[in-house]
Amino acid sequence: MRSSRLFTSALLLGATALTPGNAAEPTMKKTFGLVIHGGAGVIVREKLSGEREVEYRAALEKARDAGYAVLAQGGSALDAVVAAIRPMEDSPLFNAGKGAVFNADGRCELDASIMDGRTLGAGAIAGAQRIRNPITAARAVMEKSPHVMFSGAGADRFAKELGLELVDNAYFQTQRRREELLKAKEKEKRERERKAALGVKGPAFATLDENDSLDREFKWGTVGCVALDQHGNLAAGTSTGGMTNKKFGRVGDAPIIGAGTYAANATCAVSATGHGEFFIRIGVARDIAAQMEYTGASVVAAAESTLEKIARLGGDGGVICIDKDGNIAMPFNSPGMYRAFRLSNGTSAVAIFSDEKGGK
Ligand code: ASP
Repeated sequence: MRSSRLFTSALLLGATALTPGNAAEPTMKKTFGLVIHGGAGVIVREKLSGEREVEYRAALEKARDAGYAVLAQGGSALDAVVAAIRPMEDSPLFNAGKGAVFNADGRCELDASIMDGRTLGAGAIAGAQRIRNPITAARAVMEKSPHVMFSGAGADRFAKELGLELVDNAYFQTQRRREELLKAKEKEKRERERKAALGVKGPAFATLDENDSLDREFKWGTVGCVALDQHGNLAAGTSTGGMTNKKFGRVGDAPIIGAGTYAANATCAVSATGHGEFFIRIGVARDIAAQMEYTGASVVAAAESTLEKIARLGGDGGVICIDKDGNIAMPFNSPGMYRAFRLSNGTSAVAIFSDEKGGK
């Protein structure tokens, strides 16, 4: 039984008037900033050593500040999203790029997507096995191809043709993730044996309701970023290795525009992390933006209500959001979520556990 408790971190900035200016000049926003996540899951103090916790906090801060530096210099939300996500893909701590979780065949298959709130342009890759920085490839799909998503060998080939850095799959693989796969497989085997002993005949795969070998104990660390730049443009990006022990070709919510990632200047930017099979069915990221668009809901109310839908289905995870005025929301219904934010009004935080309220 999954927890349906919702932990909410939100920051309302109230009025963020546009700077008066000549219509011919770009409109500058007073507030800008970004939120990042490093995945949601069973992240509790008892399971995270003090040393590891320090490493995670430092890595989150580094990624967040890399993105913030872009915004502070007047750079675009899109550039900030990529600048924040790449160091997390390069860090073995997170389930994205190096350190991605293993699929059932013992390989890493990477999913990523990005969206530009200014143009509604979007790009994604799914099931790639060789692209060192999937978020950069997702951006290239958006900017340098007529398509929105490339999958599998086609994604790797696209990246190669564009001259992006390719690596052997072994580059992504770490011992920690290998051990998680072994544990997940043992759990799956025990479950199969238990069912066989009861004489239960069924498909080779457990169904979503039964499948606990994919559960959150064995994966966390998907990364994402949402940003609002000084020009009032929003962007969102998400990158992941998916879920430990996922079967061949399984694709989660992270590369699906409208599920794991969404951005529209009229409303908000969203990046999700959690059990993708649930997030896809609710269309989480777009659902949050749509509530704001159709009902005028605040970003906080919209994010919470969408996450309630996930909880009612039995799923868990979280989202990070920033709206066009710089209000942010970071609700999650799992025990923890790696997260951080920094805004131009001077507020910032790095947080992991549910009792941290997002920071301070
Ligand atoms: N949402 C990702 C997936 O289902 C995993 C995660 O965020 O932890 O692939």
